[in-house]
Amino acid sequence: MKAVRFQTFGGPEVLQYEEAPAPSPGPRDVLINMKAAALNHLDLWVTNGARERNIPLPHIPGSDGSGVILEAGSDVDWLKPGDRVLICPGLSCGHCRMCLSGRDNICPSYRVLGVREDGTYAEVLKIPAVNCVPIPEGLNFNEAAAIPVVFLTAWHMLVTLTSIRPGETVLIHGAGSGVGSAAIQVAALFGSHIITTAGTDEKLRKGKELGAHELINYRNVDFAEEVRRITNKKGVDIVFEHIGGEVFEKSITVLAKGGRLVTCGATGEFTAKLDIRYVYARHQTIFGSWMGTKGELIEVLRFFEGGRLTPSGECTRGPTSGRSYSKSDPVRSG
Ligand code: ZN
Repeated sequence: MKAVRFQTFGGPEVLQYEEAPAPSPGPRDVLINMKAAALNHLDLWVTNGARERNIPLPHIPGSDGSGVILEAGSDVDWLKPGDRVLICPGLSCGHCRMCLSGRDNICPSYRVLGVREDGTYAEVLKIPAVNCVPIPEGLNFNEAAAIPVVFLTAWHMLVTLTSIRPGETVLIHGAGSGVGSAAIQVAALFGSHIITTAGTDEKLRKGKELGAHELINYRNVDFAEEVRRITNKKGVDIVFEHIGGEVFEKSITVLAKGGRLVTCGATGEFTAKLDIRYVYARHQTIFGSWMGTKGELIEVLRFFEGGRLTPSGECTRGPTSGRSYSKSDPVRSG
């Protein structure tokens, strides 16, 4: 089969479109003829090898994707060749206390597809059948592939962890980022007053289209001062953070009494100083978050069927079918 993979760590230039061995499924796995793969910031970390460990080489990256079932393992009776599925990228043991209580993203062996296992930048993907979800009505393969990592992350952070309530004020950093753009839509679903930041007016314009009310270009103004002005010094109820460093530090200072800050990453800087006085005097809560559960993905997908959430602000309509990968394809058998 063909795949995009890398033999050494580095920037996007190390990615090669080349022949790779076709996978064979175990009894509880399926093979998927991939129709679309989506890109995430995680792919950069995997490809450059700087933040992720134990990545085997050569390696096929990619956590998000969608396609058609090509073959189902002998123990899989709920999926059949031809079914349209999207991938739930969280892999876990399935039998520990966390998995059995529905918190599979806290499983000791939890990992994201495309980090240690070969990922979605391939013609054929092998994955446990329990990680396949039917594509919601009305979505094409491109749209379906763009949903899981960012919307699952945003949903877990805002809905599950901070328990966002209607009418709250939410500061969402990075309107132009994958998780930021998903978070704006999720917060809008809850009737929040949304303040968002970005480094260009173009990204802010897209943030506004997705539902943001107040736009801050952090290159032109100090975002913390601007948030204080917008909220009449009251601060925000929730901060959606994924940048770290100074952004984290300043975010604590604009969090209102009883406010919650939730972070899912540090794309800018790993460390930040924490002024503890804010945390106790203002009754603040800080949540750490990584991905979400299979159940939460099912929950968030319901909102795509009626179009209340969309995979992106202006999604390009991709093909609903493409070149099919046949089991007798000489590429695979060879
Ligand atoms: Zn487990």
